[in-house]
Amino acid sequence: MPSPVPHTVLLAAPRSFCAGVERAVEIVERALVQRGRPVYVRKQIVHNVHVVADLAARGAVFVDELDEVPRGATVVFSAHGVSPAVRAQARDRALRVIDATCPLVTKVHAEARRFAARGDTVLLVGHADHEEVEGTLGEAPARTIVVEDVAAARVVGVPDPARVSYLTQTTLAVDETEEILAVLHARFPELRGPASDDICYATTNRQRALSAVADEADLVLVVGSANSSNSLRLVELARRGGTPAYLVEDAGAVRPEWLAGVRVVGLTAGASAPPRLVDEVIAALGPVRVVERETATESVHFTLPAAVRPEVAPS
Ligand code: SF4
Repeated sequence: MPSPVPHTVLLAAPRSFCAGVERAVEIVERALVQRGRPVYVRKQIVHNVHVVADLAARGAVFVDELDEVPRGATVVFSAHGVSPAVRAQARDRALRVIDATCPLVTKVHAEARRFAARGDTVLLVGHADHEEVEGTLGEAPARTIVVEDVAAARVVGVPDPARVSYLTQTTLAVDETEEILAVLHARFPELRGPASDDICYATTNRQRALSAVADEADLVLVVGSANSSNSLRLVELARRGGTPAYLVEDAGAVRPEWLAGVRVVGLTAGASAPPRLVDEVIAALGPVRVVERETATESVHFTLPAAVRPEVAPS
């Protein structure tokens, strides 16, 4: 008789919040304390429904665009970054900006400016509809082409094949991105890239950690929201390896039928998903043995922007 509930949870580590997400959430929390309600936030501060709902309950007002923010009000830019056009709009509206862009996204923006300034066409590997890509593209829109997949890499054209660079979104699948870059390198032998990978340490670590548990699991659950790029990549990674995998917003999203005949569940969470949601999923699975597999330790910490550091009085 198959067990009605799994008996083991293989917990991938690292998982859940990264340094960029922790910083972004803390920026909004500090802004609320230092400046009072409301604090406007352009787009979701990070791509997680629970994080956004929690901050909204404490006085954050999430807007899609800056014309929804009253002139002169405080606005936080999300961890995914913004284009120069959005910064200009904020200046025009006299908004008091606090920038929660992850420093690793800011690095990619700086590369985009530098590569475009030396006359290159920039091939930006990523998802065109993702906020991070929209922001990076905005650094040099006339010189940047988004390449979404291998098929696009095979046909993309550039004005001068001798002057071409690439960048990538920070939250892509490492293996898929290598395939795309192999095609681009083969087509453009002069292709130049960043000095260090744009796919960030947190994305890479979470993918490696999941790979270390997925093979032994009958089912993989990834805690994260549907618009979280790095969470979706984790689901795809497990499935490519042959293990059934589902993205779950929280414990309430786990469907009993997924667990039929399942003995070992591999569990992880995307970089924007709070750790407590993982604990709640484990609790919902019943009396299970939890085994953590740690493939890396993380000690990355980003300093807060001056606007919300404790020693700085609100302006
Ligand atoms: Fe920064 Fe990477 Fe986290 Fe995105 S996933 S916020 S790039 S550390």
